[in-house]
Amino acid sequence: MLAKSYPYYVANKPVKPGKKKLDVLDKYTGKVATRVALPDAAALERAIASAAAAAPAMKHFRPYERQAVLEHCVRRFQERRDELAYALCVEAGKPINDALGEVIRLIDTFKIAAEESVRIDGETLNLEISPRTAGYHGYTRRVPSGPVAFITPFNFPLNLVAHKVAPAIAAGCPFVLKPSEKTPLGALIIGEILAETDLPKGAFSILPLDGRHAEPLVTDPRLKLLSFTGGLVGWDLKARAGHKKVTLELGGNAACIVDGDQADRLDAVVDRLVFGAFYQSGQSCISVQRILVHDDVYEALRRKLVAKVKALKAGDPKKKSTFLGPMIDTATAERLEGWIAEAKKAGGRILCGGGRKGAMLEATLLENVPRDAKLQRMEAFGPVALLQRFMTFDEALAFANDSDFGLQAGVFTNDLRHAMRAWDELEQGGVIVNDVPSFRVDNMPYGGVKSSGIGREGVRYAIEDMTETRLMVIRDV
Ligand code: NAD
Repeated sequence: MLAKSYPYYVANKPVKPGKKKLDVLDKYTGKVATRVALPDAAALERAIASAAAAAPAMKHFRPYERQAVLEHCVRRFQERRDELAYALCVEAGKPINDALGEVIRLIDTFKIAAEESVRIDGETLNLEISPRTAGYHGYTRRVPSGPVAFITPFNFPLNLVAHKVAPAIAAGCPFVLKPSEKTPLGALIIGEILAETDLPKGAFSILPLDGRHAEPLVTDPRLKLLSFTGGLVGWDLKARAGHKKVTLELGGNAACIVDGDQADRLDAVVDRLVFGAFYQSGQSCISVQRILVHDDVYEALRRKLVAKVKALKAGDPKKKSTFLGPMIDTATAERLEGWIAEAKKAGGRILCGGGRKGAMLEATLLENVPRDAKLQRMEAFGPVALLQRFMTFDEALAFANDSDFGLQAGVFTNDLRHAMRAWDELEQGGVIVNDVPSFRVDNMPYGGVKSSGIGREGVRYAIEDMTETRLMVIRDV
């Protein structure tokens, strides 16, 4: 179902593989699944130059025309759903059911962008606030920021690309996208579909470079915005980005609080915790990493959780019955195995899992892990979660906030005061009440505070990022 090779895209046109190719591995078998054309520095320069040249045409590409492009994509994604899901399953090792779920979200994100593209509005301002300004009237509209640069990670090769590309088309910004070199196929298939549309010449380029060769996307002043999703390296890129706007969607070590009043719905809570912590082998920026449980329900929750986690089906992501596939590569699984060993040595207790074969790390639960262990402080980004007991809600909030990160947190509680306190006091981009922090729907504002980033995605918020407010003042003389 995969093509033998895939082109990259410069100025809306495919560039077939030449001598230099990038191997795309099947992350479960470790074998080469296909190859993609590898761009060089000259291709990147052509991409940036054509994005800069396309800015006026993109600005004048009418909202209904942008909408038609986005609607075309929605139709084509629907038609190519199975092929897209299979590509993700192979290149990311993502279980096929999750891969199909991601295609549905890709479609949602483009649908939302198609709707938003025709309602990018401005304001009428009352400027007559004193005799000095009598007769002055203000109006705003939003204009595209210009050519923009996107860098995306490996873990959602379609939908995180969609969260940048679809708002850019809606906003009228030409773009140069660098998908993860580990999972470039999703973005390249999106490129193939975009190449079928009437987007102005030069409006998009998609280059599966590795990070080291992507520096111009960070430093080139012709690009007016850098939107980066990935790890903490994003902060280094921001420091080198000059005057351009920078949006950073980085990682987390999400906490989920289970209050003492949850005894009668523990099964439902445990189901969601298992999903939140182990879905996609925990390779999600809002994966549940720290489960904070009130003393009243701790023992019962631990028993149920361990039983469920032990029963998870791990193996070949191409099988519909598989819940847990491989991590992105063996080195990453080894890194996390090392953190588990460190936590154990420091007094942590493994409740289940801990074993590893190649890139397959077992779903692992630990308790009593010291607060200064890497598993507590850093982002695990794998199938590992920690249980921690608390006695008072104050203590739970303090544990949750004891982190350098702040993307989303979850709180299971029946107590409205606790829900309101969590919303008020947790240092997070979002607080999810009665569900795990891993909840995301594609029109909500999404992004973090502290080390987790700056700015928000979620189509409307990304469009705001990619447009500038332009004011006009009229004096009625
Ligand atoms: P990563 O930081 O290793 O790579 C992300 C992207 O940045 C890749 O395309 C990579 O090639 C590129 N890159 C790396 N170094 C670069 C450099 N010096 N210059 C330019 N580009 C460079 O992250 P990853 O391993 O692909 O993804 C996992 C990380 O992404 C986790 O930390 C996860 O939490 C985060 N993430 C965040 C969100 C979010 O929305 N907040 C979503 C998904 C993943």
